[in-house]
Amino acid sequence: MATDLELLRELCAAAAPTGFEAPAQEVVRRRLAPIAAAQGDALGNLWADVVPEGSPHVVVTAHNDQIGLIVTYVDEHGFVSFDKIGGVDPQLLPGRNLVIHGSAGPVNGVVGRKPSHKMTAEERAKAPDLHEQWIDVGASTREEALALIQVGDPITFPANFLPLANGRFGSPAFDNRAGVYVCIRAMEHYAAVPAAARLTALATVHEETTFMGAKAAALRMQPDVMIVVDVDFASDDPGLDAKKLGGEVKLGAGPVIHRGTAGNLALTDLAIAVAKEEGIAVQVKAMGGRTSTDAEELMAAGQAATLSFSIPLRNMHSAFEVVQPDDAEAGALLAAAITRRLSEGWDAERFVPRA
Ligand SMILES: [Zn+2]
Repeated sequence: MATDLELLRELCAAAAPTGFEAPAQEVVRRRLAPIAAAQGDALGNLWADVVPEGSPHVVVTAHNDQIGLIVTYVDEHGFVSFDKIGGVDPQLLPGRNLVIHGSAGPVNGVVGRKPSHKMTAEERAKAPDLHEQWIDVGASTREEALALIQVGDPITFPANFLPLANGRFGSPAFDNRAGVYVCIRAMEHYAAVPAAARLTALATVHEETTFMGAKAAALRMQPDVMIVVDVDFASDDPGLDAKKLGGEVKLGAGPVIHRGTAGNLALTDLAIAVAKEEGIAVQVKAMGGRTSTDAEELMAAGQAATLSFSIPLRNMHSAFEVVQPDDAEAGALLAAAITRRLSEGWDAERFVPRA
């Protein structure tokens, strides 16, 4: 099955930092409309069902928020101060262009930086803290700036979908539009050949800050099985090391199944077996602590047998996260195949750990 690059491009084009997820959720709603009508809650979560009366109830879920920044203050000369939404590295910002999402539309801005000629040795060695940085939107006065933007407006890196060699792409939104892609395509693959299980795609909100979207959705749904999809650090560039990361994770080698603390062991091993039988390449990574994804909240609040897998990604939380979209398509095929396998006689006891 071919990877739907247009879908991934469309998902990455939506600017949707935590708390401002609606544009990205709208892409999911529109795309799923032919097979499932989406519902939402007041937090911003969005979900839709295929085979709504089916059993067991399987949820494939990914967070649809992204990191970003937020306007905190505008000075008398029109320069914009900001704070972060989620894990933003202040070193990545000076000299970059950003987009402020004002009520009347996007506003371009450039993060200012004293010219290196005029810096002290100390200034040159260290990126300024966020509160010492400023965005120049071109305005000369506070009034001019406030005609375009307001305090509390979200800010993102410019949307991008930069083609690289080997069918790889760079975008600031692959965390976690690659995961949302998996959920959408899993629904489409399953809807094409449905079985007994009810499959719900759930796009959560607020993952990058508090995980509360996942928690609220899990409390509401109480499904039998959760498949949690996010992105994970690739170990195949000069910056990272397989020994420190829990195993080798390569772009293009398939989704990364987390084995260990991140989920239900019987379900994890079933997923690895299904992948083998279906000819879907996967990678297995050890998980010995927190996943830093929605998985823990979903497991604890949803009390479901949980599987966590991720799409390999380089440069996490930067303006150019790099993925190989074929890994996401493989993840979608895997989630659909697991759902079909679970349809063949559901036995909840199988997932209650026994020695
Ligand atoms: Zn993520």
